[in-house]
Amino acid sequence: MSEMRLDRLLARSGYGTRKEVHRLLREGSVTVNGEVVRDPGLRVSPEEDEIAVEGEPVTYRPSLTLVVYKPKGYVSATRDARYPTVLELVPEEFLYRELFPVGRLDVDTTGLLLLTDDGILAHRLTSPRWRVPKVYHARVLGRVDERDQEAFARGVVLEDGTRTRPAELRILEGQALAEDPVALRWAREIEAASAAESVVEVVLTEGRYHQVKRMFRARGKEVLALHRVRFGPLALGDLREGEARLLTPAEEEDLRTLV
Ligand code: URA
Repeated sequence: MSEMRLDRLLARSGYGTRKEVHRLLREGSVTVNGEVVRDPGLRVSPEEDEIAVEGEPVTYRPSLTLVVYKPKGYVSATRDARYPTVLELVPEEFLYRELFPVGRLDVDTTGLLLLTDDGILAHRLTSPRWRVPKVYHARVLGRVDERDQEAFARGVVLEDGTRTRPAELRILEGQALAEDPVALRWAREIEAASAAESVVEVVLTEGRYHQVKRMFRARGKEVLALHRVRFGPLALGDLREGEARLLTPAEEEDLRTLV
């Protein structure tokens, strides 16, 4: 990694704003390779130099990526006039980084959303070119049948005349259903009410606006609830609604080898 200014490195490592970092430097609290340094503009290498604040070594992360389990009612944006944003789900300790959502989930969609401050990673993960699969579970009004599955497999012509990429559509049952508590709850509610509804899995490799809902609408069916369970190699796992966690190093590696 290339060298960077000491004040920038400290600010990006959670030591406060540039102004606060400059105060730490003035106070003599910062050492580089054991020497007190007061020059905020000193060029340092995060790999080669040993940087410490009040004797504690600084761990520098070039980027930060979190998995969030988005509840309903949160908007996938960094600011919004009407709804709380997904940034409100981020633990305080990570808010010093300029995180933003990777793609969007609708305000009424739940499930896996990535937040990162790595613009290149975000761009690649959402670009249709890299075909990163996104897996959704949906509760659909009407009985999804083989003709819907064939239409999804061919690519659905949307109301604006464009055709989506081929997408997988399957009815969720058995083990696959049991593995997702959200889909299982829908299935039980449907059974209890003897409703003409379906619980399905949809796999997309692109991310158009309201895509899943529009694909079903084009088939004359309505999505009643939507939940994302996977994004490429990442799954929600044991994360609970409203929670956020850092990617494990293995997950980070998986993501980066993908795109
Ligand atoms: N498709 C939709 O319709 N909504 C989402 O939030 C995600 C995919």
